[in-house]
Amino acid sequence: MTRVVLSIGSNVGDRLARLQSVVDGLGGAVRAVSPVYETAAWGGVEQGPFLNAVLIADDADLDCHGWLRCGQALEQAADRIRGQRWGPRTLDVDIITCHDGDEEILSATAELTLPHPYAHLRAFVLTPWLAADPEATLTVAGTMRPVSLWLEELDPAERASIRLTDLALRTEIAAD
Ligand code: ATP
Ligand code: CA
Ligand code: CA
Repeated sequence: MTRVVLSIGSNVGDRLARLQSVVDGLGGAVRAVSPVYETAAWGGVEQGPFLNAVLIADDADLDCHGWLRCGQALEQAADRIRGQRWGPRTLDVDIITCHDGDEEILSATAELTLPHPYAHLRAFVLTPWLAADPEATLTVAGTMRPVSLWLEELDPAERASIRLTDLALRTEIAAD
């Protein structure tokens, strides 16, 4: 059984519908869904603001590469065109962490880097993640810390770059 934290974002077209397509596509695998945040684009490319959220999902059969392919299939279903790095996109699905049971899966290839190498620098990842899982931890360069602490250590301007919206993703999370 693997469990992933997914960061999802959209800044082209019907942004909320794009995020919802991930929740719908994952169906019964979804365990937790954050509120929806609006975020100024990250990385210096001039473009419209993103809607971002974090999902937690698990699956008995997928391994971490299976989750990557699953995220890419959802991006393609949202008509994502691969263009400029950190440029506008209909849908981005990033795997932030992956656990197999109690064991955290680490990966250091270009195809799949786990934990996601920029997660601890991004308010649009940390803030929704904390909302979806207040107990979450993130290990960076061998140092495990609560996500709340990584967030506190961010530059105040980065923390302020994200705004809680009153938009919500619809889920049917079953009780365990
Ligand atoms: P960033 O990773 O900084 O958020 P990005 O999301 O804009 O950048 P993409 O163009 O969506 O980057 O993805 C580029 C490649 O990153 C993908 O082909 C994918 O194989 C690879 N990749 C590596 N690690 C991960 C991960 N943890 N989650 C998703 N994709 C990853
Ligand atoms: Ca990304
Ligand atoms: Ca991506």
